[in-house]
Amino acid sequence: MITFYPGPSKVYPQVEQYMQDAYHSGILSVNHRSDVFMQMLKGTIDVLKLKLDIPSDYEVYFVSSATECWEIIAQSLIARSGLHIYNGAFGEKWMEYSQKIRPESNGFSFNLNEIPEIEQLGIHAEHEVICVTHNETSNGTALSTEFLTDLRRYTAKIIAVDATSSMAGSALPWTTADVWFASVQKCFGLPAGLGVMVVSPDAIRKAESVADKSFYNSFLFMRDNFQKFQTPYTPNVLGIYLVGRVMEQVLPISEIAVDIRKRAEEWYTFLSENGFELAVQNEEVRSDTVIAVQADREKITQIKSMAKLAGIQLGNGYGQWKDSSFRIANFPAITETEISLLKNFLFNISA
Ligand SMILES: *Cc1c(COP(=O)(O)O)cnc(C)c1O
Repeated sequence: MITFYPGPSKVYPQVEQYMQDAYHSGILSVNHRSDVFMQMLKGTIDVLKLKLDIPSDYEVYFVSSATECWEIIAQSLIARSGLHIYNGAFGEKWMEYSQKIRPESNGFSFNLNEIPEIEQLGIHAEHEVICVTHNETSNGTALSTEFLTDLRRYTAKIIAVDATSSMAGSALPWTTADVWFASVQKCFGLPAGLGVMVVSPDAIRKAESVADKSFYNSFLFMRDNFQKFQTPYTPNVLGIYLVGRVMEQVLPISEIAVDIRKRAEEWYTFLSENGFELAVQNEEVRSDTVIAVQADREKITQIKSMAKLAGIQLGNGYGQWKDSSFRIANFPAITETEISLLKNFLFNISA
């Protein structure tokens, strides 16, 4: 089965060998406070920062998932209130998690085809962190670098970005925000079970002023550990090892992002030309990494089941678009050959 599911998604085929290498290297049985582990963690962070072009003064921590990052931000970077700007299910869910921990947090929602006006977002003095979703996996929209640049110019508050389905696929404008995070089962082409958190010096200063040290995953506690190339709890050693190996393997993000953008443009053209209705009409807000197609419920069910028979797994719709759309992951681990197969399939059923 070829999978275009946008997470968990196709893993790089090399992962099979890397898993064997991990086993044979002995890393899976070493103590996570040992030199061997610490060197492996340092090497992984170094190659990740290099390949993803992360500024040298930003720090990288590994946690268990993007969802855990939602929790860490609410616990450790927001003392009272954050502002969530969202247009889809993941952004909304993040707000709901924040509100459980910091009930004064609130949200600003915008429409699918809209680029929100920064002056209208309702950023108030009491908001400590502005939370945005770079790539809304549920509906195939993305925030542009221009938007993030304007937001950075507009406010000196901490900006946190959920980049779960774009990090390692798109070139992220790192300096426009203070916290970026992702899970590895999307554009990293890796098995689930690890989150990546990238933080600016300002985020660290904010964490110091909030001074939360109440939880096993409190920001400052994590940072203390990562500064020694250790982790607060026994980590997903295999997952961290695999990040390192895949980051060694992949091209620099500047090159990957160009390729992913080109593939996305080809997808959007192909789908429009063959009678498929794109979920996102405004070209300026379309995602490069998650492509959403809409149709009536019956047609969606039919396309998905025919695809399955052809050995192709399409992504289901998500949230309010569950039954009225399907999604196509445009992640780096997916090959041109696989894309051609899906295009042939879609071409044939549309004829
Ligand atoms: C997948 C996804 C998440 C959740 O990731 P987990 O690994 O399940 O925590 C959060 N935000 C976005 C935008 C996602 O695509």
